[in-house]
Amino acid sequence: MSSVYLCHQFPDLHEHSADVLDAAPGRVRLDRSALHPGGGGQVSDTGWVEHAGGVVAITGVETAGDVVWHLLAEPVSVAGEVVVRVDAERRARVAQLHTDSHILNAIVFERFPGTLVTGAQINDDGTGRMDFDLSEVDNDVLRSLDAAVNDVIRREVEVRSTYVDAAAVATTAGLVRSLSVAPPPTPDGQLRIIEIDGIDRQACGGTHLSNTGQSGPIRITKVESKGKRNRRIRFVLDR
Ligand SMILES: [Zn+2]
Repeated sequence: MSSVYLCHQFPDLHEHSADVLDAAPGRVRLDRSALHPGGGGQVSDTGWVEHAGGVVAITGVETAGDVVWHLLAEPVSVAGEVVVRVDAERRARVAQLHTDSHILNAIVFERFPGTLVTGAQINDDGTGRMDFDLSEVDNDVLRSLDAAVNDVIRREVEVRSTYVDAAAVATTAGLVRSLSVAPPPTPDGQLRIIEIDGIDRQACGGTHLSNTGQSGPIRITKVESKGKRNRRIRFVLDR
């Protein structure tokens, strides 16, 4: 999907109508959808589609180029005008972990200058992990970083999204720290930037909170060494 996501334009839009563009048993293409398609280690949104024949759950989103299919829980074929509903509770859980991963990333980047993220995974069960290219640090030091993350959560720091010229990003140090979570530029060459006021600023296409205080505290459950240079930090929402 190369256009601006509807969920980026309207983060609180959890229900809307849509027209079916194409359908097959168990899958449907819509002319618009507020579901986030996932990507960069973040799971896609789920939800429901209400159609003439009833309500069916959307279990995920499958993207191939510009073609986006919503996968359905039952092998039904839907047609005409439908109502799309986002599972807002699940969205909120993922957005908390995703925003918290930016905070963790910023803290690691600050304490161990220049450290890059080599992978990330945000799940819908309240767990996540980040991999860092970090070889010289004691695992116990990394395990204790959740206190610093929770301090930023407690401080209720504003989170904003803006757009910058994609060409300018290459010349701004630190703006794209992890290529794996960078979203594609919009058709007019704009890149979405997520800024946690005074903490973190980087290109990202995921779903985020608008204030860090909307997150519950996190707990780092495990730090593993992955090969010579990589550390994997696992964390959970602690409530
Ligand atoms: Zn993000």
